[in-house]
Amino acid sequence: MQGAHSTDQALETAERHIPAIALSRGIGIGRIAFLDGEREQYVRIDLEPGQADKEILRFKTAVAASIQEIAELAADGDTEEHRSVSGIFGVHLLILKESSFVENIETVIREQNVNAEWAIKIVSNRYLKRQDAIADERFREKYLDIADVAARLHTSLNGSQPISQSTAADAVIAVRELRPSTIIEIAKSRPAAVITERGGWTSHASILAREFALPMVAGVHDLERLFSHDDLVIVDGISGQVIIHPSTDTIDKFRSAGVNTAANGREPKERHNRTTTRDGTEIIIRANVDLPDPYITSRLLGAQGIGLYRSESLITKPGVIPTEEQQVAAYKQIADVAGDSGVRIRTFDIGPEIIDYSGISSERNPSLGLRAIRLSLSNPGYFQTQIRAILRAAAGRKIDIVLPMISGVSEIVRSRKIIDTESNRLQNDGIPMGDPKIGAMIEVPSAVFTANEIAKNVDFLCLGTNDLVQYLLAVDRDNDAVADWYQTLHPAVIRAIRDVISEAENAGIPIAVCGEMAGSQFYVPLLIGLGARELSVYTNVVDQIRRLTSGITIQETVGLVNSISKLKTAEQIEKALREHYLQHWSSLFTPGFLASEQ
Ligand code: PEP
Ligand code: MG
Repeated sequence: MQGAHSTDQALETAERHIPAIALSRGIGIGRIAFLDGEREQYVRIDLEPGQADKEILRFKTAVAASIQEIAELAADGDTEEHRSVSGIFGVHLLILKESSFVENIETVIREQNVNAEWAIKIVSNRYLKRQDAIADERFREKYLDIADVAARLHTSLNGSQPISQSTAADAVIAVRELRPSTIIEIAKSRPAAVITERGGWTSHASILAREFALPMVAGVHDLERLFSHDDLVIVDGISGQVIIHPSTDTIDKFRSAGVNTAANGREPKERHNRTTTRDGTEIIIRANVDLPDPYITSRLLGAQGIGLYRSESLITKPGVIPTEEQQVAAYKQIADVAGDSGVRIRTFDIGPEIIDYSGISSERNPSLGLRAIRLSLSNPGYFQTQIRAILRAAAGRKIDIVLPMISGVSEIVRSRKIIDTESNRLQNDGIPMGDPKIGAMIEVPSAVFTANEIAKNVDFLCLGTNDLVQYLLAVDRDNDAVADWYQTLHPAVIRAIRDVISEAENAGIPIAVCGEMAGSQFYVPLLIGLGARELSVYTNVVDQIRRLTSGITIQETVGLVNSISKLKTAEQIEKALREHYLQHWSSLFTPGFLASEQ
């Protein structure tokens, strides 16, 4: 018996390699710290001895705040619809005041010595599991109430314990799906790496992980069964794997290969200004950034301005949209670091769940829903505020506006009307402002087909390949289960890129490729061969892309495009590109890059 037990234990702590999808290059070694929550994200914290009472008090304060909030919501209104909603609130009040729910959470805090957020999760999961097993559907639906109450409690607790202060520097964050605002927050404490269940190469969280040079892998399912809190792991964001309970030999091997290699070599040795191909054609490389600091380094490496500033990165808490003054300050700050090369500020690319935090309406198909420009045009209030802030910040600064998810000319016309109105208002009030150029993101198939008309109505285009692949191929960019269908090299994608670039040329306006495709060495020769002369890339690859671009000629890239033009599948095209690169340009690629997956 004893022997069997120790064999089990040995198995549990034996080194194991778990395959994963590499999303941000680099190696991270550290200890598992779980993060949970859909909207409010929080980590599991082991309390110091004797801290449970204080934590229970913090939890009780959140319970009291939630009760008051619900009571106010229930009292507010007297319509038929409202009466049925207040019935739901009545159930929520019962859960908080009279059921064993609150008491059980307190017990978990005390007995397991964990923070309130984690205890809520443990207890609500227990209830949900029990309710899931109930055969009667009407009763089963009640689980939504528990989930709602747990979410409200998490919201009430949020802010009293910032995530960045509760994650250790060597933490490996394990989370089902990472919110972009959470990664901005946790990056402050510089964790070792991130492991997620969901996510793809173009998910916003992975884009940010690359911006912060934070190794990240996805596609690791059932995290809480696989790992225990504090387990030692190696996250290999290069070949795509997680090594759990690594041996000392394995750790040494990874350490000598360079931990967090994504961050290595960030300090530029030489400065660069313009980038030209070997035959002298200028390729403008801009940076995609959300924060000023990463741009400063990339500028020294040859970045010429900020090609994409995702303004929604300013929204750190759902439901809290920064005020006009806060936005003016943020836009001025980013424009000041961009200097004469300028910044392209994309207006909020968000869904309704970000502006309306009641949590009542959740869309069935969020990527096809009321988001980006659609949300801006149907909620002109917050759009007007953002436009005023951009116009004001543009006084004496080079700032342009990019409109996201444009599907045709009418959205441009409607947006321009709002921009004109706000600019007239500012002028009448004598408030200083600038005159930004207006650009459109081309990322929806209908915009590809009407690119000639869109191009006549804007000053520049941005080709958003992340969404373009998603919408053209009808494949969710955040879902690792369909990662194999997310084919950047699908012939339809290549044709769409070629056509849009040529429509921009016909209209005589610039076009920048600003999706993740532009930041991958694998796709850059192809993009240049298709006519791209402006690439906007994440800051850590500016140097690589500049080096590669400087080593090739336009003629060679056009030859490359011709050589693949008859191929029928993404797999064939990938194979042909790889062979070409290995044969002709292998010295231009980062060592090891052509051997790994793209
Ligand atoms: C894109 O869709 O390619 C893009 C650049 O925007 P985002 O990744 O923010 O959707
Ligand atoms: Mg997009």
